[in-house]
Amino acid sequence: MKRRDLLKYIGMTVGTVALSGTTSIISAAEQKDKRKRVLRIAHITDVHIRPEENAPDRFVKCLEEIKKHKVDFFLNGGDTIFAADYGNITRERVNELWKVWDETTKGINDFEIHSCLGNHDMWWAAPDKKDPMYGKDYVVKQLGIPNRYYSFDKKDWHFVILDSNNNGGSLDDEQRLWLEKDLQAIPIGTPVICLSHYPILAACTHVDGGNHTDSKYISDLFYIHKDKKISCFSGHIHLLDNAVYNDVHYYCNGALSGFWWEAGDKDSAGKTYYKQTPPGYAIIDLFDDGSVDNQYFPHSF
Ligand SMILES: [Zn+2]
Repeated sequence: MKRRDLLKYIGMTVGTVALSGTTSIISAAEQKDKRKRVLRIAHITDVHIRPEENAPDRFVKCLEEIKKHKVDFFLNGGDTIFAADYGNITRERVNELWKVWDETTKGINDFEIHSCLGNHDMWWAAPDKKDPMYGKDYVVKQLGIPNRYYSFDKKDWHFVILDSNNNGGSLDDEQRLWLEKDLQAIPIGTPVICLSHYPILAACTHVDGGNHTDSKYISDLFYIHKDKKISCFSGHIHLLDNAVYNDVHYYCNGALSGFWWEAGDKDSAGKTYYKQTPPGYAIIDLFDDGSVDNQYFPHSF
């Protein structure tokens, strides 16, 4: 082959490769464009709101930023207030924390907020179990949710909100029975979003632990319902994590408060980070084909 012919030959080959490469990129983009977004959700978790560290102002600024994403509603993953669960927490302190939550969330009062309970939200140190502020019932009331676990439907999607706060990160028997019936009752192929405080399953179990102790029970149950496209969202460990098992996605979306609104410690990769996870929130897009896009947005407040 003459040199000129060789160059022509190489040029043609490269051109063909480039062209076929372009074709496949276009078809992937077209495929993506065919999906129609039906819902956009803000997932905030581990807000741990408190009067210290200028947290109220910083949280309000963060919520204003989230509103710019034009979300349809909020999922709040628990540990809403800094901490009510320790033995030395007074009634005044619990009231103070919930008051800050009410004041700082005024700017999103027009949105639905579907919350779950976090382990730090309950006041167990109440003088009496009959005290109206004792335990889970009071948190359910403060968050304006129908029960400690519940479900609802939106735009052909089914939402399951769980209470992980049993025996240190587990569902109780009553809730398991309810969940089994709830999943059985929805039509075949229904996409499902599951919100819990503790991660049901995570890739970073080597870091801190802190996941559901009954992951096997839940993932076995989800496998029975593998016709439903199930995606799970959690917080609690303040880490950004994404695990996939049996086609179920388990997203742990860090913590809005990062290092509980504080500067951090020697393990923090940046200011207010918890380990390598920056403070942030997630925007979840749900599409008409049952697919989910989850994007974590670090915030700098
Ligand atoms: Zn927690």
